[in-house]
Amino acid sequence: MIPKNHPRYNSLILRDKIKNAYKEGYLSDSGMIAHGRGETFDYLLGEKTTETSKIAIEVSVAKLILAENPVISINGNTVALAIDEIIQLAKLIPAKIEINLFYRTEKRVDIIKNILHKKGYKDVLGTNEDNLLYINDIESPRATASANGIYSSDLVLVPLEDGDRTEILVDSGKEVIAIDLNPLSRTSKKASITIVDNITRAIPLMIETAEKFKEYVKERLEEIIKDFSNEDNLKESLKCIDLNRL
Ligand code: ATP
Repeated sequence: MIPKNHPRYNSLILRDKIKNAYKEGYLSDSGMIAHGRGETFDYLLGEKTTETSKIAIEVSVAKLILAENPVISINGNTVALAIDEIIQLAKLIPAKIEINLFYRTEKRVDIIKNILHKKGYKDVLGTNEDNLLYINDIESPRATASANGIYSSDLVLVPLEDGDRTEILVDSGKEVIAIDLNPLSRTSKKASITIVDNITRAIPLMIETAEKFKEYVKERLEEIIKDFSNEDNLKESLKCIDLNRL
């Protein structure tokens, strides 16, 4: 039991969720290492949503609402940390949810599918029963996608993706929104929009923003998207890492 007044309470709660997901068998050991990398960048960013990431969140939500077939890609880390919020966001946009695992095993996919089913969400894609195709005919596990989901999607939200997969998605003509605490990762640089923030803060803020933006007309959403440059936004995110903060 972690005492609520512990100075690192939030961080320890997230670690617990990650450890439990590993014990439950749906998060790989590498998923725990990925979490550690994220923690480091979160520490350097001051563990808060920066003004720079708020801009990326607004642009992302406007894009998601305007997209034809938006899909939210989920893996072990995202399920462990933010599945309730992801389901809420998917229903609000509306967007589909697809399981995509770096270390895909039938067992892990089934556990995640059952977690979603227990929460009343039955339409999850990317399951073992789904019709999986290879994007751009690249016969690699990194290129698989559901025919009705990512494969035919115009916009994919990928919290915690790896660089190779992001590159395949972008090269196939899709727009990619990444949520990644590391502004220097290959994913962050390859994505069309990168939200440099912890998914545990980013997704709730995306829900709040979507509730507001759903009332906007198309032209107003297009105005929000218009001048966004991912490269510039990433440079601003890097400036938020204040190494003199002592
Ligand atoms: P790339 O191939 O894009 O360079 P990588 O090899 O550095 O990625 P991975 O281990 O594939 O990294 O993915 C983990 C990424 O997810 C890291 O960049 C890490 O900062 C980020 N990350 C981990 N936890 C979170 C979190 N809770 N919220 C947002 N991002 C996170």
